[in-house]
Amino acid sequence: MTDAPTRVRFAPSPTGMFHVGGARSALFNWAVAGRDGGRFVLRVEDTDAARNRPEWTDGIVRALAWIGISAEDPRFEGPYFQSSYEPQHRAACGTLYAAGRAYYCDCTREQVIERTGSQHQGYDGFCRDRGLEPGEGRALRFRTPDSGVTVVEDLIRGRVEFPNANMEDFVIARGDGSPLFVLANVVDDMEMRITEVIRGEEHLSNTPKQQLLWSALGAEPPVWAHLPVIVNEKRQKLSKRRDKVALESYQEEGYLAEAMVNYLMLLGWGPGDDREIMPFAEMETVFRIEDVNSASAFFDEKKLRAFNGEYIRALELDDFIARCHPWLDASAAPWAASDYDPEVFAAVAPLAQTRIAVLSEIVPNVDFLFLDEPVWDAGSWAKGMKEGNAPRQMLEGALAAYQKVDWEAEALKTALEEVGAAHGLKLGKAQAPVRVAVTGRTVGLPLFESLEVLGRERTLTRVRKAIDHLDAPPV
Ligand code: GLU
Repeated sequence: MTDAPTRVRFAPSPTGMFHVGGARSALFNWAVAGRDGGRFVLRVEDTDAARNRPEWTDGIVRALAWIGISAEDPRFEGPYFQSSYEPQHRAACGTLYAAGRAYYCDCTREQVIERTGSQHQGYDGFCRDRGLEPGEGRALRFRTPDSGVTVVEDLIRGRVEFPNANMEDFVIARGDGSPLFVLANVVDDMEMRITEVIRGEEHLSNTPKQQLLWSALGAEPPVWAHLPVIVNEKRQKLSKRRDKVALESYQEEGYLAEAMVNYLMLLGWGPGDDREIMPFAEMETVFRIEDVNSASAFFDEKKLRAFNGEYIRALELDDFIARCHPWLDASAAPWAASDYDPEVFAAVAPLAQTRIAVLSEIVPNVDFLFLDEPVWDAGSWAKGMKEGNAPRQMLEGALAAYQKVDWEAEALKTALEEVGAAHGLKLGKAQAPVRVAVTGRTVGLPLFESLEVLGRERTLTRVRKAIDHLDAPPV
């Protein structure tokens, strides 16, 4: 370790959606840089041309900005692109070759399999001392030590030993001269003066090779920290195919960035007291990578939802309303722009704020106010209008009572309670037919406040229509 200022990096490959695991790595790096007054370098590892797409790079930058990691903060540096460092990668290959630390090899895979008698055994060192010159089709291999161990001191996993005898002479440049990831990644970290490499555990197996490369290139390796894998409720590693892993999909569903950040920071780490809900600015003052647990971290979507609900409830009302806008805007919502009324929304917003866990849930809670007719759902209809709820009596009773009652929640409630009592129904059952008639749903915001906002005329029209439907429900 040196006294150089802390420089960490986040080095995603732009090969798809931005994974929640990547977001966690980025945040841990961000916290380390913030706490130490250091720098956070964003390096896009874009050398796999066949799998990279520019829009994925944009997606990474956007996703990072959403969780608060952007060039607006002085600790941010980059983005740098791995592809623009190819001259340095090639130069490093040249240095290693010139120093005898790497050699050219023209063996085909078939030849190696034939010689070793196995598909799985690594390279047998056949070309080590053949003195091959560089040439078309010749790969460059790093000469690994034959004995002893390479020790990786990992801040999270402790001391990890890799017997050198198990490490083949690995390829650092292909037959066409193009450098491999394992080398490019090291050279970039050296170029960018990275002092701590904090990344996913899947890279631990590369680390002894990379540490040997650092030393062979005459530099002191960085401090390593490999973060535990993130698993689902079946303890399986989160996977793109099986699990919801794209940060973007959480954003689209209406998770607040603050809640997401808070939850991601707890995947493998905790602030050490009983508090779990804590703003990032506070977390980064106490975050230490050494305190990250090496056991796999469970991504508990239910807990994340609960966090999000808490964050939503803690918003100022105006802020809550503003954050709902993207879902209420006619471009996303099921109603016409001209039917949306911000004042009507503001009237029910406090009721919704305490009930929803993700912002997208705002739409089914308020759509009855802005659609001409409530949504039609056969299942909800059947449930609300079941015999035990005396639907005809309740709707007809409500229709009569609601023509003249004061249009105010408490009076609406009392009136319906009385109708229910006349048919031996408690309010819970008594209000179900009215709720389905008016909102189309069996659950939602408190009914009587909802009716108050909807207004007498629209309520009565819907109740009448529902009575007609009792004989012939729409299909
Ligand atoms: N580009 C690698 C990845 O996305 C990261 C390598 C590293 O962090 O060293 O998995």
